[in-house]
Amino acid sequence: MEITRFQKLIRDTYIHHDSRRGLDNTVEWFLSEVYEFIKALNGEGDIEEEAADVAAWLVSIMNLLNIDLDNAVRKRYGEGCPKCISIPCRCDYRETPDKKVRIEIRNQ
Ligand SMILES: [Zn+2]
Repeated sequence: MEITRFQKLIRDTYIHHDSRRGLDNTVEWFLSEVYEFIKALNGEGDIEEEAADVAAWLVSIMNLLNIDLDNAVRKRYGEGCPKCISIPCRCDYRETPDKKVRIEIRNQ
């Protein structure tokens, strides 16, 4: 499913709940689904299902902000890597992000 179609589907399905909940609580839901996704990577849950939930909650946040995610993705990654503007990326390999977030994935 294309991003635009997915975003419209989530808007049509949940915008009444998302609007009532507001941005802060919707972001909190998004983070809880990221946590569920990480648990699924560790063998506690369905990875595909949790990935779909993370995508849906991200799109809900974009709906509340009236941001077209398809357009944002195209602007950011349409030419490949946004830093070196290449496909594949030619940037130096980096093992970890600059901002530290410690996550352990047991099932690799
Ligand atoms: Zn790059």
